[in-house]
Amino acid sequence: MKWKALVVGAGIGGLTAAMRLVKSGYEVEIVEKFHQAGGRVNLLQEDGFTFDSGATMMGMSYELKEFERDCQIQLPFKMVELNPLFDVIFEGSPKPYRISKNLTRLGKEFDDLEKNFPDKAKKFLHASGRLFHDSFPLLFKKNISNFFEHFISIAQLPYKHFPRFFRPYWQELGKYFQSDKVKQILSLPALFNGSTPFEISSFFSFLSYNQMKFDGNYSIEGGVYQLVQSLIDELVKNNVKIHYNTEIIDFVSENNKIKHLIDKNSRKWHADLFLINADACVFRNKVLKHPAYDATALDKMNWSMAPFSIYLGLSCKLPQLSQNTCVINPSFKEYAGKNLKHLLALDKPYYYVNIPSKANPHLAPLGCEAVMIQCLVPNLKYKKSWVDKKSVAENIIQDLSYKISLDLESFVLYEKIQTPEDWEQNFGLWRGSGFGPSLKLNQIGGFRTKNYDEKFQNLFYCGASTIPGNGIPMVIISSKLACERIWKKFGAYS
Ligand SMILES: Cc1cc2nc3c(=O)[nH]c(=O)nc-3n(C[C@H](O)[C@H](O)[C@H](O)COP(=O)(O)OP(=O)(O)OC[C@H]3O[C@@H](n4cnc5c(N)ncnc54)[C@H](O)[C@@H]3O)c2cc1C
Repeated sequence: MKWKALVVGAGIGGLTAAMRLVKSGYEVEIVEKFHQAGGRVNLLQEDGFTFDSGATMMGMSYELKEFERDCQIQLPFKMVELNPLFDVIFEGSPKPYRISKNLTRLGKEFDDLEKNFPDKAKKFLHASGRLFHDSFPLLFKKNISNFFEHFISIAQLPYKHFPRFFRPYWQELGKYFQSDKVKQILSLPALFNGSTPFEISSFFSFLSYNQMKFDGNYSIEGGVYQLVQSLIDELVKNNVKIHYNTEIIDFVSENNKIKHLIDKNSRKWHADLFLINADACVFRNKVLKHPAYDATALDKMNWSMAPFSIYLGLSCKLPQLSQNTCVINPSFKEYAGKNLKHLLALDKPYYYVNIPSKANPHLAPLGCEAVMIQCLVPNLKYKKSWVDKKSVAENIIQDLSYKISLDLESFVLYEKIQTPEDWEQNFGLWRGSGFGPSLKLNQIGGFRTKNYDEKFQNLFYCGASTIPGNGIPMVIISSKLACERIWKKFGAYS
């Protein structure tokens, strides 16, 4: 008999898990709440402009390659290594800093900021690399079921890494670099994970090592959504059906097993096993109504910041900006602290600008540019309403206009704003948090929400809120870890 699996959610976690299951002989069907697949790796196409509406780049490219090897497929898109990785504009700085993996070149770029940068960076990256290679297989690439297994894994790490667990990322950077600007740039991976370098442990400096030495950052020719589209094409070839506009809201169980799930239109979805790619905490809260995951319990967890996204179709080209630019305004520490918990006003925002039409001119009409601005803001626990979204967006657009000496407003042909409320509503994200539970030490490994259900034996989870964590590569790993649990229980056919 062939086991039937129902995957709930067509994010990267759900799509890659579905592929692993179908390739190992399972019959697979996917249900998705939104009108198209991808979840946080999504696509916005309007008035001739095309945007990757969430994720725009990916690192740890070897995880995608491992996935392709595991499934014996070759996804047809071309990955393009970003060089430079991105530009950084500081308030009042005469030039943008161009960030590349080449440390000698980067040293020249930082000439006015940090003496002997290449030597210092080599030492920092060497230490981060040792930590990465020692810890990644133990803590991120295998299933960890409980605290005991978590501590067994940690005990296998060389002791020299231990202080880094307890040292904030920012403090670790301070051991190597003097310049606050250099530290701000090197700690951007923390912000890219919806957190701040003051909050997350220097353990995550391995993100810098991956970006600047071991691997790099990649975009995809035609846009990151090509990843989603190729996964869908491959799944369709393997007879996997995806049902859109289908939100699971309830369940029926029998003998500690899910019998079927029920969608918003009262349709029952039967399967032998259920793999949830919807947020692992939110599903337990909203669908299972699990008391340990009620709203109070979830609000006690530490959730990452939320995205505030502006999509602009402009009637001009922007030679002043490169494909990826981070804008960093003054008083970083104050901003980061204030922004996470009690935003008063986004007077000096930090934001990231992505211009997909630079590398892919067909994503905007001739002579035009598609521009996406992502700003990290407090999630809905801290800022409950976004009725002021227009003025927040105006402030950010004016700030960027000032930085590049061009009145962007006068070139706007198309504009759309997505607030944390939209991110929450569209994809079922808790309080609109874009990156799931933050990467605090008490929310990773054995402490993170489990990828198997506490009660139902045929219910499993993959995606950013369960192990190992957030971001496209981590979520690809999460699909493997969830499938390993399923194969262990149900077997694999091939
Ligand atoms: C603005 C933004 C920018 C980002 N940029 C990057 C980047 O550049 N690089 C990177 O690596 N990572 C980036 N990330 C993180 C990355 O996008 C996510 O970690 C990853 O895509 C999460 O995938 P997932 O499969 O876990 O979840 P999701 O993408 O959230 O997918 C879950 C799916 O489940 C569906 N769903 C939810 N509830 C239900 C239900 N009840 N019934 C049916 N379906 C349901 C949702 O609609 C969704 O499609 C970014 C995230 C955000 C928010």
